Amino acid sequence: MYTGRITTLVALLLLLLRSAHGGWLHQDADIMGTRITVELFHEDPQLARRGVAAVLAEMRRIDAEMSPFIASAELARLNRSAAQAPFRTSEELFRLIQRSLDFSRLTEGAFDITFASVGFLYDYRKGVRPDDSRRQEAVTAIDYHNLVLDEGQQSIRFSKPGVRIDLGGIAKGYAVDRCIRILQDMGIDHALVTAGGDSRMIGDRWGRPWTIGVRDPRKADALVAVIPLQDVAVSTSGDYQRYFEEDGVRYHHIIDPQTGDSARELRSVTIIGPDATTTDALSTSVFVLGPEAGLALVDRLDGIDAILVDRHGKLHYSRDLQPAVDHGKGAGGSEGTP
Ligand code: ADP
Ligand code: MG
Repeated sequence: MYTGRITTLVALLLLLLRSAHGGWLHQDADIMGTRITVELFHEDPQLARRGVAAVLAEMRRIDAEMSPFIASAELARLNRSAAQAPFRTSEELFRLIQRSLDFSRLTEGAFDITFASVGFLYDYRKGVRPDDSRRQEAVTAIDYHNLVLDEGQQSIRFSKPGVRIDLGGIAKGYAVDRCIRILQDMGIDHALVTAGGDSRMIGDRWGRPWTIGVRDPRKADALVAVIPLQDVAVSTSGDYQRYFEEDGVRYHHIIDPQTGDSARELRSVTIIGPDATTTDALSTSVFVLGPEAGLALVDRLDGIDAILVDRHGKLHYSRDLQPAVDHGKGAGGSEGTP
């Protein structure tokens, strides 16, 4: 009979769903000074578990080499010695610094890993910042041209003392891309990997797109937009992650390389693009560039979209995005969280 057949079908579907559910895993961890999230599916629960473990291991590996705070990290060693003599780097670090310089050229210096020449003088947790004269003195060391790369030797030298680099504007996106690559190589085609404000997803989630909420920069539990996404990367940079206020001025971790002071034209920038290294670097860049120059850059780039919240709380979208955005509909999730 008809109903009998439907009942069988429903039972079969339920069974399928349940076995599918068995392979979905979700894990959070604190690595790289931020929250790491992995969510993935594979029919083989053992393989799914190995996927999660591989992601966490890769995040830890990259943190151990690219943190400026871990004395033994390759990046910290480079910072300590490259003003005296060329420092030979691993191929991986050399390539990532080369990519950082590509973004410096693309953004006419808005993205600049030598921002750290001033950046290290801030401690946002303790509310510490350089006074104006100290900042103006240190800002002269900010310029990506101060990095001298020797491709043959795979070495990096700082052309003057006082130069420091920090990959905080690109390394998390890079780490997310590495993890996604590892998962794809394992045969996992449904996954989300997030490191702080940087995410990338492969495939869909329960046959539907992933949804990413863009947080209200001034209300921790409110969203200004919800975007359905699939097979892309998305990064958000905000002035509410690491900051302190002094005399009504907000000092936060995104630094305008021209001034050595925090960039203040925007409150948050969300970038959608093909890979997380790109979206990470561009979210920081557009934050520094501000709404006009930032959106002009995004609209010039193929396959890149942006949602901006300016310093008055007003939303701005890149040219191609408007129809895809679902204004504040639904709840759940926060910045960078599906
Ligand atoms: P997060 O995910 O840590 O909030 P963002 O993508 O918003 O990171 O980038 C902010 C980080 O980028 C800062 O903590 C700092 O390490 C680095 N940074 C700050 N200003 C610049 C800049 N002008 N160019 C490149 N990197 C920067
Ligand atoms: Mg970034």
